[in-house]
Amino acid sequence: MTYTDQIPLPVPLVDLSFQHALIKDEVQAGFDRVMANGSFILGPEVERFEAAFAAYCGVDHVLGVANGTDALELVLRAAQIGLGDEVILPANTFVATAEAVLRAGAIVKLVDCDEDFLIDPEAVRSNMSARTRAVIGVHLYGQMAPMELLRRAGGPDVFLVEDLAQAHGATRFGARAGSLGDAGGTSFYPGKNLGAYGDGGAVLTNTQRVSDMVRALRNHGGTNRYEHRFPGLNSRLDGLQGVVLSAKLARLDGWNQLRRDAARYYDDLLQAMPEVVVPRVVEGNEHVYHLYVVRVPNRDRIVNHLTGLGISASVHYPVPVHLQPGFSDLGLPLGTFPVAERLSNEIMSLPIFPGITNEQQDRIVAALQNALVLHRQPAVLRAAG
Ligand SMILES: *Cc1c(COP(=O)(O)O)cnc(C)c1O
Repeated sequence: MTYTDQIPLPVPLVDLSFQHALIKDEVQAGFDRVMANGSFILGPEVERFEAAFAAYCGVDHVLGVANGTDALELVLRAAQIGLGDEVILPANTFVATAEAVLRAGAIVKLVDCDEDFLIDPEAVRSNMSARTRAVIGVHLYGQMAPMELLRRAGGPDVFLVEDLAQAHGATRFGARAGSLGDAGGTSFYPGKNLGAYGDGGAVLTNTQRVSDMVRALRNHGGTNRYEHRFPGLNSRLDGLQGVVLSAKLARLDGWNQLRRDAARYYDDLLQAMPEVVVPRVVEGNEHVYHLYVVRVPNRDRIVNHLTGLGISASVHYPVPVHLQPGFSDLGLPLGTFPVAERLSNEIMSLPIFPGITNEQQDRIVAALQNALVLHRQPAVLRAAG
């Protein structure tokens, strides 16, 4: 290893400059087109992206919306899931998944995850009730939840939703994220694997009825001007974002491969550190490493040590949904989801993005090694001594 703690070389969690340099000219030309024809909201650039992303994911319909949270809400509303209906989702997700269920008017029914951070199909099965209408598989950190097991756990009448905000391009037994559920919602927040230059999101589905509903719902409840079939919302993708997303989609597979290469490099370096548990790829999955999440002892002290050296290690997520103050109404105390709770205290995300260099990764791992030695628990030191 070339770099040590003494050499200051800050590493951000995500660096988008590598991607921007490659699409800069294409984006500028596209922005010029949008500004020339004035199609700032939806319009031809969005339609072009919707068609390309649908073909890429292997689904019939993609509808661009304002963000990923709206996408999930619209999926549920389009399936007429709302008041009094229960929706099952994992306790360890970004809070948006749960917010979308509440915004649709439905009941949040959280369940625990497995050791790979993915929603536990067994927990889904045991939480099914007469009121369960939907199950949301969250493809956390870049690999897909076991959709076929969730389908079996939910049974034929349950509407199966994919939250693929962290898994653009990921596959399970060869099928792309977004193509295995009854519908999917995704985000194009700038830091996602497929990110816009602002907020954005999309609904994916093979069901014409869901597609028609979302098309109207996203645009004040109608597709013809001043004709409102029902009260909808304003949740549309901008033309400028369509330009950026088309340019990035054409390069997504290559960039996901760079993420996998970086993950392999971390895996190899971290092999020498038995205290660090590296992420496992679940059988049948191709991972796209939106995040590279390891498990370490003394997590908070390790993260502080790294951030103090300018290495932006982070935690996704430090507090599961049921322990967030905003979700105390759920009435689920500490101890309800033992796996999600335990993992939330052990996980740490190391920087990963297309363009991260081996030198940066060397430095991160060297700093991590020092941090582990420095912050080893006294009991462990005693045992070792
Ligand atoms: C980012 C994200 C969302 C929400 O996306 P926004 O575009 O920020 O609304 C939903 N679910 C997961 C798992 C996410 O990572």
